[in-house]
Amino acid sequence: MFDLTGRTALITGAGSGIGAAIATALHGAGAAVVLSGRNAANLDAVASGLARARTTTADLAQPGAADALMTQAGRVDILVNNAGLTRDGLAVRMGDDAWAEVLAVDLTAPFALARAAARGMMKARWGRIINITSVVAKTGNAGQANYCAAKAGVEGWSRALAAELAPRGVTVNCIAPGFIVTAMTEALGEGQREALAARIPAGRLGAPEDIAGAAVFLASDAASYITGHTLHVNGGMAMG
Ligand code: NAP
Repeated sequence: MFDLTGRTALITGAGSGIGAAIATALHGAGAAVVLSGRNAANLDAVASGLARARTTTADLAQPGAADALMTQAGRVDILVNNAGLTRDGLAVRMGDDAWAEVLAVDLTAPFALARAAARGMMKARWGRIINITSVVAKTGNAGQANYCAAKAGVEGWSRALAAELAPRGVTVNCIAPGFIVTAMTEALGEGQREALAARIPAGRLGAPEDIAGAAVFLASDAASYITGHTLHVNGGMAMG
């Protein structure tokens, strides 16, 4: 039921953190994986441990990069839009560049990739689009107006695309991580991390593998009747 043998998955931001864990887990379930990111050395390091992996670099902040990446990737059965970045600052001081860059990488590029991937998936009458959003899309977070807008926007277009693609056997879902230990959260001090853990009912920050398990599930045939959903993986810090 969770076997992905014969499927090809494209994972963006696959050279580190959550993306590397998702790529490794999808491969472990039998998929061939195409790893994308900006840093070729990181991608090669992840791919070196995997038998059915290739890498391709792309800077998703650049116009046209998403379509070029899809051409490079070839047939994609499972698209995981994981690449993301933050440029935090209080809204009243947020520059247009910080707003534009986060929306370009975290909102526009994932949509362009999904749009391009959907064409082949519709023809094949099978496909999975999995978007990594964030708990803050729902809760909000001071200093992250751009990031919250982008992630909430992804959840919005995912529901629209899910309705359009369901008749063709293609599902579109989001995974909204809580606080996961990666480079993105390493910027927080030890004290901040402890304070965060105290607010999480599970009593710990998440691991990238906690997100990877959810991705394998949504990619599998076990999840074929789930679409337009946002799966919260956050140790109970935000429920409902
Ligand atoms: P991470 O290790 O910093 O991973 C982010 C990835 O995005 C990197 O592999 C990076 O690739 C890629 N990326 C950034 N800018 C890019 C660009 N312009 N073009 C192409 N790729 C780009 O952090 P992470 O925590 O694993 O984040 C993965 C996803 O989870 C993100 O969408 C993030 O918003 C989301 N998330 C994380 C948390 C958390 O607590 N960690 C919580 C909620 C949501 P290169 O290094 O190769 O450029």
